[in-house]
Amino acid sequence: MLDIKVTRSEHLKQKPADETALGFGRLFTDHMFVMDYEEGRGWHDAQILPYGCFAMDPASMVLHYGQAIFEGMKCYRRADGHLQLFRPRDNFARMTRSAQRMGMPALDEETALEGLLQLIRIEADWVPHRDGTSLYIRPTMISMDVGLGVHASRTYRFFIILSPVGAYYKEGLKPVSIYVEDEYVRAVRGGVGFTKCAGNYAASILAGDVAEKKGYSQVLWLDGVEQKYVEEVGSMNMMFAYGNKIVTPKLNGSILPGITRDSILKLARQLGYETVEDRLNIHEIFADAKSGKLTEAFGTGTAAVISPVGVLAMKDEKITLGDGGIGVLSQKLYDTLTGIQYGRLPDENGWILPVND
Ligand SMILES: *Cc1c(COP(=O)(O)O)cnc(C)c1O
Repeated sequence: MLDIKVTRSEHLKQKPADETALGFGRLFTDHMFVMDYEEGRGWHDAQILPYGCFAMDPASMVLHYGQAIFEGMKCYRRADGHLQLFRPRDNFARMTRSAQRMGMPALDEETALEGLLQLIRIEADWVPHRDGTSLYIRPTMISMDVGLGVHASRTYRFFIILSPVGAYYKEGLKPVSIYVEDEYVRAVRGGVGFTKCAGNYAASILAGDVAEKKGYSQVLWLDGVEQKYVEEVGSMNMMFAYGNKIVTPKLNGSILPGITRDSILKLARQLGYETVEDRLNIHEIFADAKSGKLTEAFGTGTAAVISPVGVLAMKDEKITLGDGGIGVLSQKLYDTLTGIQYGRLPDENGWILPVND
């Protein structure tokens, strides 16, 4: 693990007074963590320094060829004031897997985690207190070589910034309407679908905008070959419930292996539900929704934890799932996982890492 040099900011920002108006990813704390990589030298110069701009050459490779990957996780404040992280090692391990696919160096995961813990201890007062709020953590890695030749960069920067975020649900779980995307695709087998790379998001923005104009909050992606099998939704994995059985697309290389997905599958089994990971035909899902066999559908991801699907639409077809409200299972899984994350329920899976006790 590298030594981490700390330089404190001399001009601390005003903390937000109204925690109901935080929104998502708009405010950033006083400090950030940065470390650099150079081929032959490895990761070096790990430091915490005042939050601020990077000076970048316009020929920096990331701006042209897009070697950029990120992670998303949260720090939660318990009722007793202590702060805790949820499976942070899994996020850093996933970042290394993203890096390898993108021709980038493996992260120094131990230094990244230690840097994150030290950074949060410095910024502890930025972790909001209100129910459902948290401190969102955004680790990012970008290529830094200057020049337009197409090759893997020899220099990289890794950084972590922190943002206090409001409760995703202000008045309890809320069902969303989802549009099944039948024109554009997000990822193909052999591609970069399983990585959290910036380009996956760039490629998805247009379809999201089109769906939003039609009145849907997100798109459901189908596979990139036959456009027939369910992949995932926006920045969430998808799950479908048939009574006591939960089915979800299996990890096939083109969908993102969500940490919430993995946690929900484990919790569901521990709660006595059956879980199945398989290839899911969208036409069968629609038929099952119409016949009533399909009882609930929901997305899973760090931001919302669980996002129940009320309406699913494809071409001219539009179906309401169940009564269009929040399913019993969605609510139960949401309460259980958020209970663990906020320290209201015991953590029997070793998922919680305390920050400051
Ligand atoms: C981050 C992300 C998810 C959810 O992953 P979590 O680890 O559960 O937050 C799902 N799909 C995509 C495309 C993502 O980028």
